[in-house]
Amino acid sequence: MSSTALESLRKLLPPGRLSEDAASRAAFESDGLTAFRCRPLGVVIPQNEAEVVQTVRWCHEHSIPFVARGSGTSLSGGSMPVADGIVISLNRLRQIIKVDPDNRIAVVQPGVINLQVSAAAAPYGLYYAPDPSSQKICTIGGNIAFNSGGAHCLKYGMTSNHVIGIRAVTASGEIVSFGGPSLESVGPDFTGLFCGSEGLFGVALDITLRLLPKPECFHTVLVGYRSLRAAGDAVSAVIDSGLLPGAMEIMEALAIEAAEAATSCGYPKGAAAVLIVELEGPREKIDAERKQLESVIASTEAFETVVAADARQRDGIWAGRKSAFSAVGKLSPDFLVQDGVVPRKRLGEALEAIEAFSKDSGLRVANVFHAGDGNLHPLILFDDSVDGELERAEALAGKILNLCVQMGGSITGEHGVGMEKRDFLPKMYDSATMELMHRLRAAFDPKTIANPGKMFPGAEAPALSGHGLHPLEKAGVISRE
Ligand SMILES: Cc1cc2nc3c(=O)[nH]c(=O)nc-3n(C[C@H](O)[C@H](O)[C@H](O)COP(=O)(O)OP(=O)(O)OC[C@H]3O[C@@H](n4cnc5c(N)ncnc54)[C@H](O)[C@@H]3O)c2cc1C
Repeated sequence: MSSTALESLRKLLPPGRLSEDAASRAAFESDGLTAFRCRPLGVVIPQNEAEVVQTVRWCHEHSIPFVARGSGTSLSGGSMPVADGIVISLNRLRQIIKVDPDNRIAVVQPGVINLQVSAAAAPYGLYYAPDPSSQKICTIGGNIAFNSGGAHCLKYGMTSNHVIGIRAVTASGEIVSFGGPSLESVGPDFTGLFCGSEGLFGVALDITLRLLPKPECFHTVLVGYRSLRAAGDAVSAVIDSGLLPGAMEIMEALAIEAAEAATSCGYPKGAAAVLIVELEGPREKIDAERKQLESVIASTEAFETVVAADARQRDGIWAGRKSAFSAVGKLSPDFLVQDGVVPRKRLGEALEAIEAFSKDSGLRVANVFHAGDGNLHPLILFDDSVDGELERAEALAGKILNLCVQMGGSITGEHGVGMEKRDFLPKMYDSATMELMHRLRAAFDPKTIANPGKMFPGAEAPALSGHGLHPLEKAGVISRE
């Protein structure tokens, strides 16, 4: 496919929508998983829904692959372009179409940023619950495609639990509507089917979201432990006591060190791991639950417990956790974020195994995770300028995923399968189930043009390509701190 073949697309769209120059295309060649790169043939930046639909129909007619893209923060290579294909960048579709406080819903375009939904709902005392750490930049379109989660999804569920309607253009160009403003719907949950489809079914055009009343109060506790296993065991103790906190997060020493340097969050000194537990809800209920939590924590191996006295201290505790991914970037020139799930009861065991893998490989691992639902995020630190380290980091990530499957967990909790984990999907599903998944995909996309090469094994992956040293670093003009 040459750029002359894009001629008819160029003519179809208003001037300026299709970028074909090398610099514009280069800006889209990676997503949050920078170890993979692929430059697309062209990038379309539609200004409205009609232009999205026109582009998808053109792709279908000419059998040209396309990748829908929100903010490109995918950590699994899910929004990486396809060579000989185009990227449909949805950031200009950023209208909050309506907020309906009486029915507690919002209808938004796919390019709306997650946190902006809560900002629009705030005057009515409402908010949008799913809170990925990337919520300041990621889009609702990306969130539904990956069924994204966040710290507070332990209590409130993932994105799919908060999306009640989706209107989309399928990869074959039909406009379809699933669900709607009502909480009840007819037949199978097609809205749920679209959530987590990783851009393989088509492009979501507008999305109806549930809004929740803001909790009346929070009780946020930060607990220090001398071992990661003790922190993992404390999570089971809290859940076994019958409490259902809004969030339960663990960070271990390396991540604590990084977060402390980035945000001065004041985490307990000398902790091998910290546990953040947050209760939220009506004041009376929280007053009762906080006593219960206190006695559970006292029964664990905690060596220091800090209770947030006010909103400022709570924000400080969360700033440390939410900055963890980017802060870890300061400890090492490069890192990979993995995303696997183990049954909560086996958290301590899984963490010990990861520690052993880390020692064997000679690569450091910083663990930060949604402990309440067993969703691990090992951050594998490596230096891409050292020959073979990227490959060793990928191999270590693979060992961790295999461990998750063997323990009865999952290869992804919230970051999706994408490009990176597609070869692991058959480890979770038998061939009959995989076959059915392919047939379902074909119903939306008979030509396999929507985000091909993602989620399912089989297609060729681009070679791993570390970014290596910047030419100015090589010349000794600048250096990384
Ligand atoms: C620092 C950092 C922290 C993160 N923390 C979390 C976290 O706590 N929880 C979590 O779940 N994730 C997290 N992520 C991962 C990422 O932010 C989420 O997966 C997010 O949902 C991606 O949104 P996006 O707009 O960047 O989508 P993109 O990366 O652009 O796309 C993601 C997928 O969605 C598809 N897509 C995009 N728009 C549409 C559409 N309109 N219709 C159909 N398909 C579409 C793409 O094709 C792709 O497959 C984090 C990422 C970073 C960089």
